[in-house]
Amino acid sequence: MAAIIINGNKIAKKIEIKILKKVEKRKKDKKRVPGLAVILIGNNPASEIYVKRKILACKNVGFFSQYWNFPCDINEKKILDLIEKLNNDINIDGILVQLPLPEQINYYKIFSSIRPEKDVDGFHPYNTGSLCQRNPHLRACTPKGIMTMLNYKKIETHGLHAVMVGASNIVGRPMSMELLLAGCTTTVTHRFTKKLKFHIKNADMLIVAIGRPNFLHGDWIKEGAIVIDVGINKLKNGSIVGDVDFYSAYLKASYITPVPGGVGPMTVITLLQNTMEACEKYHDNQ
Ligand code: NAD
Repeated sequence: MAAIIINGNKIAKKIEIKILKKVEKRKKDKKRVPGLAVILIGNNPASEIYVKRKILACKNVGFFSQYWNFPCDINEKKILDLIEKLNNDINIDGILVQLPLPEQINYYKIFSSIRPEKDVDGFHPYNTGSLCQRNPHLRACTPKGIMTMLNYKKIETHGLHAVMVGASNIVGRPMSMELLLAGCTTTVTHRFTKKLKFHIKNADMLIVAIGRPNFLHGDWIKEGAIVIDVGINKLKNGSIVGDVDFYSAYLKASYITPVPGGVGPMTVITLLQNTMEACEKYHDNQ
């Protein structure tokens, strides 16, 4: 059996058109366009690419965006001061601080300082906690983007045994909460998990986010499993691959996401959706 490939680019494009129409309507109604502030610290090449993509995506739908790039030895206070300013800026609906952060910058302090209503990455403890309590507000982009994909493909998630491989703050943990919310029986695995292959074999749906190129082989998965590959890994020859060995998994899965062109575009478009949501829900009546 060969899997149905879930085309993230195609789904993201459909959502982009919807956002674009909303922006045009706002302009007609003499409302301001949504605004996103992007902060990059340091010069990590992958982060630079992601930030460029996000700013371009804003431009494509007519959002207002502002961008700061600080040297990696900047002190934390300067970032916190800027966030405070942006928290009070009426043209800004979303504040994004690109990860990873340099060592001297405290992740928890930074994300806790962003007003939850402008936390379009969904990393503020309030937003993370709201998702845990089944009352989501702004939701982390990659997990929410994956749920959107599953909905577009009309995949019934209730009762599925979903196995999350990876337990990071930005993907694995919020994804496990999304899966619970979607009625899945959810297993979370990570680097200390024993018998990883056993868990994978039992999965109706696998979401893999570990950052290891082609790590998970098709032999490990159950016939007909749904495979969502979050990984983005650059090989020495320059090509980009996921955490799943695509071809062997493709032959056994029922659905599979490619890398590139799967989860990646969904993450970016979800950031725009969150910025629009923040604008409409929290800032239109300011
Ligand atoms: P991370 O390094 O923060 O976390 C990796 C997780 O994988 C950890 O929980 C770790 O315990 C687990 N892990 C590592 N090796 C393992 C193993 N052998 N078996 C089981 N678990 C293992 O990574 P992250 O930020 O969650 O990112 C993971 C991957 O997803 C990376 O390739 C990253 O580039 C990619 N990513 C993609 C998107 C997207 O939009 N497609 C978004 C975020 C991250």
